[in-house]
Amino acid sequence: MTTPFPVRDDLRSLEGYHSPQVSVRVRLNTNESSEPPPDAWRDAFAAELSRVEWHRYPDRAATALREAIADLHGVPASMVFAANGSNEVLQTLLLTYAGPGRTVATFEPTYQLHGHIARITGATVVEGERGADFRLDRAEVERLVSAANPAVVFLCSPNNPTGMVEPEPLVRAVADLAPGLVVVDEAYGQFAPWSALELVGEERPLVVTRTFSKTWSMAAARLGYLVGPSWLVAELDKVVLPYHLDAAKQIAGRLAVRFKGEMEARVKAVVDERDRVSAALGTLDVDVFPSGANFVLFRPRSMPGRAVWQGLLHRSVLVRDCSSWPRLDHCLRVTVGTPAEDDAFLAALQEVLG
Ligand code: PMP
Repeated sequence: MTTPFPVRDDLRSLEGYHSPQVSVRVRLNTNESSEPPPDAWRDAFAAELSRVEWHRYPDRAATALREAIADLHGVPASMVFAANGSNEVLQTLLLTYAGPGRTVATFEPTYQLHGHIARITGATVVEGERGADFRLDRAEVERLVSAANPAVVFLCSPNNPTGMVEPEPLVRAVADLAPGLVVVDEAYGQFAPWSALELVGEERPLVVTRTFSKTWSMAAARLGYLVGPSWLVAELDKVVLPYHLDAAKQIAGRLAVRFKGEMEARVKAVVDERDRVSAALGTLDVDVFPSGANFVLFRPRSMPGRAVWQGLLHRSVLVRDCSSWPRLDHCLRVTVGTPAEDDAFLAALQEVLG
């Protein structure tokens, strides 16, 4: 379609981010938590909401929220930056450290929005390759870093959509090799056996991004954050829009971290359930990739991935169709749901595979 006024030249071929929201009985496509937050959180949130001064702008620095997140990780509040979902954290990082004339490195396949947002800022994106088993090799990191001199290098651990946790020696090697900022996206970090949070410090341009959308059961709130050096957080504060975090969201996040124990119990239940789903998938005619997240990537062996996705949808089960994504031929990704949802998925899959 021709439009009366064109977008920027460099955005002409940009495709939007697609994740279909279809009304189904069993929705296992976007890696949300299958359980809501605790009732006590809901009550505390409602009580505080009723006291908000709605005619005033919210606390621009989101001080209480940052302090609550900082306490959670045992760091000073000056090392925490919060935003509207970790996607806005990533966007702010890229507006600050990428942009025209700079290069951003990703290792594919990985979370599509890393490259997507980088391109929107006007940066050049260079893509490194993972092996057939989706492992990332140190030699490939060295090759890409020396060829492209990237201002920003992305890692994602556990990686979306493969589920793989990056080993600590590799993340340390990337931090040593990268000439600029290293972003470790840990949207699924709580499900994994180790975290790059231990590598964060004032001396190193490395940040870890996290979200309230998954483990904290608060995807509707749109809240994410990073832990990074104070000097970097101060730069982000200059770039992000003033008052970007509304009062309700600041309250939601500040209260949520009081329920850390409940969150950790949910994480443990999801990890157990993930291992059950992975094991059950292993008995079917599919290849299953090891996961350290709240989802599992699998590839049907003797049917096209798209046909399996459609067969599941026909049975009112929605999973993520990655089958046409580069390097992910025939792959589908299923979010770990409640045991009943997962049983419905496994039964439907068994039927589809015949
Ligand atoms: N990073 C990764 C790897 C993700 O999978 C997602 C959500 N799909 C996000 C970041 C964004 O999460 P949110 O904006 O909801 O915090």
